[in-house]
Amino acid sequence: MRLFADHEQVLVCHDRDAGLRAIIAVHDTTLGPGLGGIRMWTYSSDEAALTDVLRLSEGMTYKNALAGLDLGGGKTVVLGDPRRDKTPAMFQALGRFIDRLGGSYLAAEDVGTTTDDAEQVATGTRYITGLPVERGGSGDPSPMTAWGVFVGMRAALAEAGAGSGHEGIHVAIQGAGHVGGTLCGHLLDAGARVTVADIHPDRLEPLAARGAAVVAADEIHAVECDVFSPCALGAVIRPDTIGQLRCRVVAGAANNQLADLAMGDELKRREIVYAPDFAINAGGVINIGEELGGGGYDAERAKRSVERIEETLTAVFERARGEGVAPHRAAERMARERIAAARAAVAAR
Ligand code: NAD
Repeated sequence: MRLFADHEQVLVCHDRDAGLRAIIAVHDTTLGPGLGGIRMWTYSSDEAALTDVLRLSEGMTYKNALAGLDLGGGKTVVLGDPRRDKTPAMFQALGRFIDRLGGSYLAAEDVGTTTDDAEQVATGTRYITGLPVERGGSGDPSPMTAWGVFVGMRAALAEAGAGSGHEGIHVAIQGAGHVGGTLCGHLLDAGARVTVADIHPDRLEPLAARGAAVVAADEIHAVECDVFSPCALGAVIRPDTIGQLRCRVVAGAANNQLADLAMGDELKRREIVYAPDFAINAGGVINIGEELGGGGYDAERAKRSVERIEETLTAVFERARGEGVAPHRAAERMARERIAAARAAVAAR
């Protein structure tokens, strides 16, 4: 763990009365306040939570930069089981901690948190996005994230020489949660074949009823398909899974899909097109960008903005081909260049 790498600020939050244990990491605010979701998860140790929040907040910097947003990167992890340990007081306390950062961090929902939790956070701070639409927010970001993955998949299919439509393609989705479940619906509507897996069977029933095939959670990455779509947690492309992939494209919503960057190079060597996670899953933050833009949130306008992800990915693939590198390297270069240019512009003033 590189604690003194590039992060600007890391805040450990402990409120004994509210039962809150959380870490907020602000990675980079060159382009604007660090925007990133609040993840609630059962971490195996405090160190594991810290590692996750450092990685996730850095990823948010690149995601927001590549998406063309004037926002930096940040993230929060709350330690606990979202199905068992959640209380309103916990998220109210978190709101007060977020407020102490004075706007350098903008929170949103992520794995394990919902708009209800965001409303609790809002009792302690105004630096929370994704509030319900009736409260002037843009609501749950996951439908837009799913839409972005759906349209972005077209660019990845085109790069793999597999046409650019969804009809007739076979997609294996890992994780049928907010994003994976919605993505599954879009794909079925578009005439794709879908296989899906989740560790919670209740998530799968409605999708199976719509025609999706179901496999065990530990088999989904090895399903023979056109697109493997990780929509659960990170580090699913690892030395022990990469050899089992039977797909032409990896394109999904999960953050930090590669266990390390070498895995992305290995995908390229195996001629599997990888849509960098932080490029294809930017729909949620683009949606929040619309909320912050002023003039009132408009869902149709937000949807059109999210569709820019297809263009962005096409540019990433072109750059990767031109420079002979894997797409995740090209995407990170593009994001870093935007941040460096903004820094240089400030320094020149
Ligand atoms: P979610 O919690 O609603 O869904 C995740 C699903 O994955 C759950 O149904 C869970 O049971 C399942 N899961 C967990 N471990 C699994 C495993 N080993 N195998 C199969 N299924 C498993 O979360 P979400 O909002 O749908 O987000 C999914 C992923 O996309 C996360 O990595 C998140 O960080 C990322 N992401 C989400 C958004 C968003 O707008 N929600 C935006 C960008 C990125």
